[in-house]
Amino acid sequence: MPKRILPFKACVKCKLLVPPNVEICPNCGSRDFSDDWEGIAIIINPEKSEIAQALNITNPGRYALKVR
Ligand SMILES: [Zn+2]
Repeated sequence: MPKRILPFKACVKCKLLVPPNVEICPNCGSRDFSDDWEGIAIIINPEKSEIAQALNITNPGRYALKVR
């Protein structure tokens, strides 16, 4: 699996994936982003998703599985 298959960067704090031109994370307000991330989890229903619970995700969205 390629490391980056989509042009996103990941929020270091909450792992949300955003387009490269976004400066502030819409999810947690952080300005720390990383281009070094792996895997994508699309969370539609955080309450019912085991991945969301494992990653402590409470809002729907696209998230990286690993952020360095
Ligand atoms: Zn964030």
